[in-house]
Amino acid sequence: MHYQKPKGTIDILPGQSEKWQYIEAAAREVFQRYNFHEVRTPIFEHFEVIARSVGESTDIVSKEMYDFYDKGNRHITLRPEGTAPLVRSYVENKLYGPEHSHPFKAYYMGPMFRYERPQAGRLRQFHQIGVEVIGSSNPATDVETMMMALEFFNCLGVNETKLVINSLGTRESRKKYRQTLIDYLTQFEEQLSEDSKRRLYQNPLRVLDSKDVRDQKIITGAPSILDSLDKESSLFFEEVKQLLEVANISYSVDHRMVRGLDYYNHTVFEIMSEAAAFNGVLTTICAGGRYDGLISEFGGPAVVDTGFGFALGIERALLASEAEGRSIPGSREIDVYVACLAPSGNGYAQQVAQIARKAKLIVERDISYQKIRNQLRKANKLNAKIVAIIGENEVNDAQVVLKDMHSGEELRIPYTQLTAYFDNV
Ligand code: ATP
Ligand code: MG
Repeated sequence: MHYQKPKGTIDILPGQSEKWQYIEAAAREVFQRYNFHEVRTPIFEHFEVIARSVGESTDIVSKEMYDFYDKGNRHITLRPEGTAPLVRSYVENKLYGPEHSHPFKAYYMGPMFRYERPQAGRLRQFHQIGVEVIGSSNPATDVETMMMALEFFNCLGVNETKLVINSLGTRESRKKYRQTLIDYLTQFEEQLSEDSKRRLYQNPLRVLDSKDVRDQKIITGAPSILDSLDKESSLFFEEVKQLLEVANISYSVDHRMVRGLDYYNHTVFEIMSEAAAFNGVLTTICAGGRYDGLISEFGGPAVVDTGFGFALGIERALLASEAEGRSIPGSREIDVYVACLAPSGNGYAQQVAQIARKAKLIVERDISYQKIRNQLRKANKLNAKIVAIIGENEVNDAQVVLKDMHSGEELRIPYTQLTAYFDNV
């Protein structure tokens, strides 16, 4: 039998996994400085947790869910995103209580699942790093969180980025715009793509997202959501822009960027990579926004019914960094290679390797008993700094030969002096 991984998934192999660890470590380091803490939620959730909050008419829920009924006939789905699970957890664990810090600031990282058509940077199991701030209605939260996202990308050498923002306004003003947009779009109903026709009454804001050329022409003339903002929404958006300016962060406003998820209101944003290697196509590498009202939908208290968060795809972060010609550091190289020339030295070689590991060195040992020439070649290929050579004589005399692979010098020392030697490597 020849098995293959499921379509739209990847194996993250040695050589690559170190880069993933580097990215994850960079995220932890940056987020920690902003006082965010990690939350790990289950990989699967009750279907309704996602469906209700993300929205039944979104692509994620209507087309892309990996849902199933388990053996107890519960409707389960693999998580397609991180915000709904995190808000569910926040409310369920009463993290708004007085013993917890306020606002609640959390990050997560891990696999997400969406049944999509796989292509470059688009997978069925992909990996997100995301953050949420729950309980702040201060626009400074929006700006600080966007700054944190940009800082993370800078850590990966991703600098050719563009921050695009928009405001959907309060839920009420968003609702008002929804009707304005429906009124506009119905004039062109016949000319819309099939997808957009379907969305027109269910989720008209999504029509603005359409990549279809027929739709695009119509969208160009659509009324701007910014003209529908009420006083409160405008003031909020003005302060977000002003705080970005104070922070010296350049941004552009795109009144057609609405984001696909139902729970967003006020600020929404995307970070795009402008790297030339993406062939001039602006690629979204991070996206998020404000979701006031979501916490109470999950049964949380009204006083903390405000949220702001983002998610970024690790696969796309890697692509963006490579597109800018960066090379994310891989693994550290071997310090000591233990060469063992005869089976009688097997246990002795094992002890030598352990002494070097105790000294915090990276150690590999040979398992072949091949000729010394072959074993040195392998050590060389691994870029080992030192080879510890163990033959029958060394075992009998309780000694080890240490070969410095840079200078070629050899040194014979007693077993008892190994710790002192390795401590100084
Ligand atoms: P897109 O418009 O590219 O489909 P989205 O709006 O569905 O993105 P979000 O749900 O906001 O994306 O997810 C945030 C980030 O997660 C994206 O910017 C992207 O980096 C990553 N992402 C989303 N879907 C996938 C996927 N199927 N494969 C890889 N990365 C993804
Ligand atoms: Mg998508």
